[in-house]
Amino acid sequence: MKAAVLYKNERYLKIEEVSKKTISPGMVRIKIKCCGVCGSDLHMTLHAKLSLPHYPVILGHESSGVVNEIGEGVTKFKKGDRVVISSGISCGTCNHCLEGRLNLCAKKGVLGSEHDGAFAEEVVIHERFLFHLPDDIPFDQGAILADAVSTPYHAIKYEGRINQGETVVIVGCGGLGIHGVGIAKALGAGRIIAVDLDEGALQNASLYGATDLINAKKIKNIGKTLKEITNGVDLLCDFSGYYKNISDSVRAMNTGGRMVLVGIGMNALKIGFPLMMIDRMISVIGSIGCDTRAIPELISLIQSKKLDLSRSITSTHKLEEVNDCLENLDQRKGNPIRFIIEPD
Ligand SMILES: [Zn+2]
Ligand SMILES: [Zn+2]
Repeated sequence: MKAAVLYKNERYLKIEEVSKKTISPGMVRIKIKCCGVCGSDLHMTLHAKLSLPHYPVILGHESSGVVNEIGEGVTKFKKGDRVVISSGISCGTCNHCLEGRLNLCAKKGVLGSEHDGAFAEEVVIHERFLFHLPDDIPFDQGAILADAVSTPYHAIKYEGRINQGETVVIVGCGGLGIHGVGIAKALGAGRIIAVDLDEGALQNASLYGATDLINAKKIKNIGKTLKEITNGVDLLCDFSGYYKNISDSVRAMNTGGRMVLVGIGMNALKIGFPLMMIDRMISVIGSIGCDTRAIPELISLIQSKKLDLSRSITSTHKLEEVNDCLENLDQRKGNPIRFIIEPD
């Protein structure tokens, strides 16, 4: 089968023929229909920020497809079923996994990093990483549920514990943050303040329901600005990873405020005096991926028309165009939300 493979010390993916995987008990073979190109793919390729435990590896972790073959003992899926593949992979036996909280598993990994991914014609994976995709949701929207939508959903709903009418700040409105805006709206946020350096990203955020747009290039200190324009921030979700945004925002947080960190950053935070954090009971919480609740709940939000992902698909491409998509995403060419690869 054809796949986009990353070799060690390479910055681009190589499209090549790889051998098909055999199918063992509990495993399912999926013909991939769509796979999103994510900012985290840039960390492993063009930006060379993350190195992986083994190479070569097939990238791609936001995917959907159709079940093509089932292994012995598979009970929840049959040939022809439409599915979303979880981007998080976990051991399946620890207490967290047994409760469906795979993002807490000590042995967790990511499809398309620690495990061969979905920039390929097929993926073979255990049935516990699959979710049924209803016929009324297209494959491209189904694919991005696996990370671009489910990661902010988990961060905002389960770690951020959003309440109706709260003031929410979304810092960084790329592929994940933009869905953070839409999810905050769907879950009943009052004011949604979007922060980014890029005007195009802010325009996207207003389409998804942001009530206030802040171009971080035009202000000196985000904490000061937020303090001036709000009566206190209840929930701040950071997708930028930029240490200064997070450090400076602490002082704008309301009593009981939650700061949820999703964006990967490389500089230390300076989050201020313990007394302020204690007195106002401010939480700073890290959040990665999602657990098994997110994708089914998101499917319900889409079906009840509370969340519209139709604008999230920027364009669709052949597998051979994956490196162009990475470059265009890196340069934000065409103000992309998600480029989709169709390996079929
Ligand atoms: Zn991703
Ligand atoms: Zn586990």
